[in-house]
Amino acid sequence: QETGKDKKKPNLQVVERKPAVFVQVNRKSTIQKARLKLPILAEEQQIMETINENPVVILAGETGSGKTTQVPQFLYEAGYALKKMIAITEPRRVAAISMSQRVADEMNLTSKEVSYLIRFEGNVTDETKIKFMTDGVLLKEVQSDFLLRKYSVVILDEAHERSVYTDILIGLLSRIVPLRKKRGDPLKLIIMSATLRLEDFTNNQRLFKITPPVIKVDARQFPVTIHFNKRTNENYLKEAFNKAVKIHTKLPDGGILIFVTGQQEVNTLVRKLRKAFPLRHKDNQSNKNEGDSDSENSDKEIEDDLKQTLKRRKKVKPVPKINLDDYSVPGDNEDLNLEEEINTDSEDEDFGDVNIVSNNQPLWVLPLFSLLPSHKQAEVFKPPPEGCRLCIVSTNVAETSLTIPNIKYVIDTGKTKVKLYDKVTGVTSYIVTWTSKASADQRAGRAGRLGPGHCYRLYSSAVFNDTFQEFSVPEIQQKPVDDLYLQMKCMNIDKVVNFPFPTVPDLLQLQTADKRLEILGALKNSKVTPLGRAISRFPVLPRFGKMLALSHQQNLLPYTICIVAALSVQEVLLETPILQTNSQEVKNIRQKWAAIRRQWAGVGNSLLLGDPMVFLRAVGAAEYANSEGSLEKFCLENGLRQKAITEIRKLRIQLTNEIKTNIPNSDIIVDPKLSPPSDIQAKLLRQIMLAGMGDQVARKIMPEEIKEDQDKTKFKYAYHANNIEEPVFLHQGSVLKKTLPEFVVYQEIYETNKMYMRGVTAIEPEWLPIYVPNACQLSTPLKDPEPKYDSQSDKILCIVSGTFGSQAWPVPNVEI
Ligand code: ADP
Ligand code: MG
Repeated sequence: QETGKDKKKPNLQVVERKPAVFVQVNRKSTIQKARLKLPILAEEQQIMETINENPVVILAGETGSGKTTQVPQFLYEAGYALKKMIAITEPRRVAAISMSQRVADEMNLTSKEVSYLIRFEGNVTDETKIKFMTDGVLLKEVQSDFLLRKYSVVILDEAHERSVYTDILIGLLSRIVPLRKKRGDPLKLIIMSATLRLEDFTNNQRLFKITPPVIKVDARQFPVTIHFNKRTNENYLKEAFNKAVKIHTKLPDGGILIFVTGQQEVNTLVRKLRKAFPLRHKDNQSNKNEGDSDSENSDKEIEDDLKQTLKRRKKVKPVPKINLDDYSVPGDNEDLNLEEEINTDSEDEDFGDVNIVSNNQPLWVLPLFSLLPSHKQAEVFKPPPEGCRLCIVSTNVAETSLTIPNIKYVIDTGKTKVKLYDKVTGVTSYIVTWTSKASADQRAGRAGRLGPGHCYRLYSSAVFNDTFQEFSVPEIQQKPVDDLYLQMKCMNIDKVVNFPFPTVPDLLQLQTADKRLEILGALKNSKVTPLGRAISRFPVLPRFGKMLALSHQQNLLPYTICIVAALSVQEVLLETPILQTNSQEVKNIRQKWAAIRRQWAGVGNSLLLGDPMVFLRAVGAAEYANSEGSLEKFCLENGLRQKAITEIRKLRIQLTNEIKTNIPNSDIIVDPKLSPPSDIQAKLLRQIMLAGMGDQVARKIMPEEIKEDQDKTKFKYAYHANNIEEPVFLHQGSVLKKTLPEFVVYQEIYETNKMYMRGVTAIEPEWLPIYVPNACQLSTPLKDPEPKYDSQSDKILCIVSGTFGSQAWPVPNVEI
């Protein structure tokens, strides 16, 4: 069933008939004018009638048609927020925050009434009527109130993005909606999506008994001319830069939007473009500063970007000439004569010496990515300063979640960054790969909002046709599902395999999650345990949840909270100084930082606690500096990423509050300047690390295990880890490199040129059967009628055979 008219031409006329309005909204006239131009306004009556008559409705419309900003307002005016709230979920935090602000502005309401809630912050009040939230947050709410009784309607936005949480919510809500109906308290479900692959939701017997109606909203989309490159140059950043230069210097007015893969690439390109087209504008200075401070956002992505860039550099072959045809656009018959070579030596030269053709028009270059502070994100919605051309360099957040006005030219590198995850071993790696045809088309579409536009694809049509997949793989098939699996078990969904997923995850993924949760003690015979329930209440991964749950018993909560927070934030400790000078200086700084970290690690149990100990000290010391007003300086000198420190603080507060609500009588407070743990506490923390990471144990590779023909020196920091054949290594900056403990647990293994362990703590093997009994095989069962008595130590001993790793490990006798 499909409603909605097929309009061929853009329809600028707004239908006069309006649905009954129950709640008056007093919008400013400028806002009202802008709204009336949105195509979705013409469909309001039809949309509201369909919603009123059907429990589930699918609303599909191109990006920018007004779904996110307008549908909540339609519902509000129709009285859906009179008794209960209107919920709207976004897969991205950026969108939840900025859309709530936009809707509040449009409705002339405050953030008390149109609010947002994301994992670690929000501004929801008792007066909230429209609540924007991330999909993960709503999923947590289902757990405490399965029927979602606070809401009269749930809108799942950006369903085409196929985020794991949205997928699960669709499945859950397909059951919640009929239950609410039975109770005489109906809940409406609206699934909003770009117009792609709707069949996963409509043509899915498992999901909805009655196929929901689909309303399609036409966006006022103008034709976009696609220009493929003849050749595909591996250095897409340079290509993107050149293309932007050419557009800006040769082509008529109109904003430029460039798609690259990550924050670091955004920052690099923004810097290059600002350098190439310095603003002679009075805002010059602020514009420049902004770029500089952005480059501080060096998180995990930066590292990966650099690595990718390095990898790419190795492969780049000199391209002697740029094909002039690549740049031709209709009406552009300037004779461009550029002879360039790719120089692989330094980043700067990578871009070549650009001779800027005299163009007096300034270029207003802005970055856009998820982690950009929201006030800076808001910049992209503002018109550029007079006389400037707008140029936005963005990750794929501009693909569908945010609509940027006034874009006429899109430059698409065709690339996207994905986190790959090995379903069995859990090894993660980031790779830059081709995006899908569907998302390339979305990107191109961004150019046709203002008028006819152009999309420059920096790859050949052959690559597009032969290499690009039709759609991106839904996230649920790419990510560990442990937390979801546990949450479902807590909701008494026994057979997770039978859950109505829009796309079913791999059976192997589900089995691995089951196994890991069993080792953690969250499940027993596939049923959730009391510990499992406690774990699932924490808004962190199950392994972290277990660490928190255990710490309560040990009075170690403030430390564990700090460790969990630090492990959840990417790249707290910098490896290379941001302000690079020469290589000798870089080397000196690195050495200085390494010394500081060794000092932070301390001795004895502190040292053996490893990375978490370094984090504890780093965070404590940074907070000390912060209270004295010298955080920035402190971070710079000690190799800490300032943003990470601030984020850790937020997380600590959030987790502390979470625990307070879960454990009524707990009196824990956040002491920012946490003093370091005592030796005994450090030992207990090592055990807690083991309890949480018990499925991720690694054992040092002994000299006798190294084959004759192998280079022994290469195995100095090598370990055997669970299920992984290849050796894994202590990471570069690990403070445990000197100690080389026999057994360690690790938080994550990531792969670059080798496999490295991150978040490493030394453990004692005899703790294994106590903290992770499910992962051990006791050759003499604990309840053996005749346990071995060791008179020397006056202990009963039991022999444990380690089943960790690809081979049985010699684990010593264990005291009972
Ligand atoms: P959709 O959800 O269908 O993609 P949106 O509701 O997000 O569409 O956007 C509708 C219009 O509102 C777009 O033209 C967009 O440019 C505009 N818009 C959205 N947010 C803002 C903002 N913060 N400032 C100015 N305009 C905005
Ligand atoms: Mg939207």
